[in-house]
Amino acid sequence: MKNKIAIIILFIIFIILLILINNHYTKKETTVFKEENLFIKEKYYIAKNLNKYKAYASMFPETKIKDVIAIINTNANKTAYKDVKKADLTKGILILVNKYHYLEKDYIPSSLTYLNEEYAYKDKQILEEVNEAFKEMYQDALKDNIKFYITSAYRSYSYQKSLYSKYLLTYGEEYTNTISAYPGYSEHQTGLAIDILSENVKMRDFKNTKAFAWLKENSYKYGFILRYPENKTYLTGYAFEPWHYRYVGKQVALQIKDENITFDEYYAYYLDN
Ligand SMILES: [Zn+2]
Repeated sequence: MKNKIAIIILFIIFIILLILINNHYTKKETTVFKEENLFIKEKYYIAKNLNKYKAYASMFPETKIKDVIAIINTNANKTAYKDVKKADLTKGILILVNKYHYLEKDYIPSSLTYLNEEYAYKDKQILEEVNEAFKEMYQDALKDNIKFYITSAYRSYSYQKSLYSKYLLTYGEEYTNTISAYPGYSEHQTGLAIDILSENVKMRDFKNTKAFAWLKENSYKYGFILRYPENKTYLTGYAFEPWHYRYVGKQVALQIKDENITFDEYYAYYLDN
């Protein structure tokens, strides 16, 4: 009997609360609140971006809410190389360089070291920490009868400039921008990015190799991520690059793999929020 009374009292309190809540918001406010909730409940929601999410979603109502969040968080709705910021050097190995974050002409990473020619093209340099991580990965891959080597590592501003100009002449601006970075905007200038291929395999065929399958499965264990994955061009601004790996350290590489996000999304939510 006591229980029954308690349940009835609780029920009445619940009804009163419901009436209070409903009266608190006008109909219009309730609609807005519901719309905002669509964004707020998403995992990578960033409060300061709410108005931008709303504006983008009303402009592109077909876009999934999850994608709206990712696009706004990563600036992917902005024009590449136009609405830009200087890369934050204090982030260390988690520095973000992309089409909206650039490095100065004279930026040269400290502690560059030459890569061993056993596993890299001649005269290639990389950050010491990345070299150590790669060496470990290379040796473990060998144990599985997998062999690959580094074709490109640190690239200076001027080297990137000549590379970009070369592509521009061959392919024109639109296509060049999906495969090569404007000088100052290349991750290779950080000394944290490497291009990996296996012998006698062209870049476009690397995705079909055992070496790529091995890297896809294992590279995170050594602190590397596939930086420009398939189907993420709308966020990274780059076509799928099975050869391009970015060093972020073991912990972050694991998290990025587990959450299945790009480094741009990781940075926006965890480091710049
Ligand atoms: Zn690359």
